[in-house]
Amino acid sequence: MKNSIVQFPCPANEPVKTYLKGSPELIALDAELKRQYDTVIEIPCIIGGKEIYTGNVEEVVCPHEHKHVLARYHKAGEKEIRMAMDAAMAAHKEWGNTEWTTRAAIILKCAELLATKYRPILNASTMLGQSKNIFQAEIDSACETIDFFRYNVHYASKLYAIQPKDGAGVIDSTEYRPLEGFVLAVTPFNFTSIACNLNMTPVLLGNTTIWKPSSTAILSNYYLMQLFKEAGLPDGVVNFVPSKGSEIGKICCASKDLAGIHFTGSTRTFQTLWKSVGENIANYVSYPRLVGETGGKDYIFVHPSANVDAVAHAAFTGAFEFQGQKCSAASRMYIPKSLWGPVLEKCKQFASEVKMGDVMDHMNYINAVIDEASFDNIASYIEYAKNSADAKIVMGGKCDKSVGYFVEPTIIETTDPHFKSMEEEIFGPVITVYPYDDDKVDEAVKLCDTTSPYGLTGSVFGQDRLAVEKVAADLVYTAGNFYINDRPTGAVVGMQPFGGSRASGTNDKAGGEFNLIRWVLPRCIKETLVSPTDYRYSYMK
Ligand code: NAD
Repeated sequence: MKNSIVQFPCPANEPVKTYLKGSPELIALDAELKRQYDTVIEIPCIIGGKEIYTGNVEEVVCPHEHKHVLARYHKAGEKEIRMAMDAAMAAHKEWGNTEWTTRAAIILKCAELLATKYRPILNASTMLGQSKNIFQAEIDSACETIDFFRYNVHYASKLYAIQPKDGAGVIDSTEYRPLEGFVLAVTPFNFTSIACNLNMTPVLLGNTTIWKPSSTAILSNYYLMQLFKEAGLPDGVVNFVPSKGSEIGKICCASKDLAGIHFTGSTRTFQTLWKSVGENIANYVSYPRLVGETGGKDYIFVHPSANVDAVAHAAFTGAFEFQGQKCSAASRMYIPKSLWGPVLEKCKQFASEVKMGDVMDHMNYINAVIDEASFDNIASYIEYAKNSADAKIVMGGKCDKSVGYFVEPTIIETTDPHFKSMEEEIFGPVITVYPYDDDKVDEAVKLCDTTSPYGLTGSVFGQDRLAVEKVAADLVYTAGNFYINDRPTGAVVGMQPFGGSRASGTNDKAGGEFNLIRWVLPRCIKETLVSPTDYRYSYMK
C-alpha cells in the first residue's frame, strides 16, 4: 500500500573533495586512473538492457596522449537506432506508471552510488577520456552530477504539489503525465554531468530516452549507464546508442513518437535538429518539446572602476580552465585602456606559473583540447590573428598536437571590436580583448550587446555600484547567466540555474525547477461529485 505524502527537502550541494596528497580520495582515484589507463574495454550499445556489439568499431583515446587507446565502442546503425526507439516505447508505459517516489528513489540511489563507489570511476574516466584535471572532473562528474540527481527530485516534489483549487461540489487536480513518446537526449563532450542530466531529468518524470552520447565522451558516459543499472533503473528506460549524429537525428526526428529533444551542444547542430523537426511537423503524435542549450561568446565587461587583480583572475581562470571548453568560458573582454596593461601583466604571471600536460600529473592545470578537429579549429583562429593587421597575440599562441592536442592559454588583443574572434565561438583556451577608451564606456557597452549572436553568460566588473547597475541594465538580453564582480562561468546547481537565449538556446535552465515542466504533459481532472441533470438556467425554472 502506498499512501504516504513523501517530502524531498532542498538538498545541500555535494561538497567538493580536496584530493590532498595522501587523502583517501586521491589514493582511490589514482588506483582507478591506473586501472582504466591500463585496460582497453569494449563498449557496446545498450538497448532495452541488452548489450549489442555491432562490430562497427571506433576507438576512444586520451586527448592528451592520442595514441593511447582507452576503449573501443560499437557504433549503432539504422537497425540499432530503430531497435532503440522500439525499446524506449516498450518501456514507456510501465516506467510512466511507476510510482514517482519509486522513480525518485532510483535517482537518489544513483546520487549515493556516485558519491561513494562510482566517484573515482566517473572522475577517472572523465579525466582520461575528456582530459580534465582532478578538480575539473570532481566538480563535473562527481559534484554537479550528484547535485542534478538530488535537486531534481526536490524540484519534482514541488512540481507535483502544484495543484489547482477546488470549486463547490468539485474535486480538481492536475496529473503530470510524461510526454507521449520518447525523448532523444543528444549530449556534448564537455560535461559528464550534462550528458547524465539530459537523460535523467526526463526519466525522473516518467519518460524514456534514446541517448546519443558524444563520440569523445563515450568512456565516462558508458560508466554512467553502469551506475544507472546498479541503482535499479529498468531496462529500456535509457537506451545508449553511440552513433553518427546526423543519422540518429534524422531517423528519430522522422518518428511520429518523438516527444522531445533534450540537447546540449553547438548552435549549428541544434538548428539542424530543429529544422528536421519542422520538416516532420505534421507527422508527430504531439508537438515535440525542443530544449537546447547551445553555444556562447561569453564576455567580461570591465568598468574603469574595476579591481585589476579581480579582473585578471576572472579572465585567466574564466577563459582557460578546462582549456576554455566550457560553454560559459570567457572568450571576449572589453576593458578600459588604463587597466589593460596591469591586467595583462597579471595574466602573464599566472601563465608563467601554470603547467600544461597529462592528467596523470596532478600539478598540470591545463590539459589537452578534446580532439584533432577541435585542435585544428582553434589553431586556425590563432593563425588568423597572427596574420592580421588588426590583432596580435599578446600571450601564448603555441599549439602542438604531436603527443596530445595541446594549445597554450592564448590572449589575442585587437583594435577591431568586430574582429573575427570577438564574434565567433572558438571553444578553446583563447580570449580576445578589446581595450576601449576610458571615457567611452557607453559605446563599449553597446558593442558588447550587439557584437555576437549569442546570449549565454557575461560578467561586469566595477567598484562603482551604480555604474555597474547601468551596465547590467544595458546588457539585459546578452546573458541568461549574468555575474557581477565574478567570472562568467562556474554555475552551480540550485544556485545559478543555467542557460541562455538568443543563439545560445531555449533558456530552460538546467539545474533549476523550470526545466522540469518541459518534460511533462499536465492533465487537469475535474470530478463533479453530483452531476447536474436539468439543462435550464436558474432564472428559467
Ligand atoms: P556538437 O554540436 O558538435 O555535438 C553535440 C552532440 O550532437 C554530440 O553528441 C554530436 O555527436 C551530436 N550531433 C552532431 N551533429 C548532429 C546532428 N546532425 N544530429 C544530431 N546530433 C548531432 O557540440 P560539442 O562539440 O559536443 O559541444 C560543444 C558545444 O556545446 C559548444 O558550442 C558549447 O558552447 C556547447 N555547450 C553549451 C552548453 C550550454 O549549456 N549552453 C553546455 C555545454 C556545451
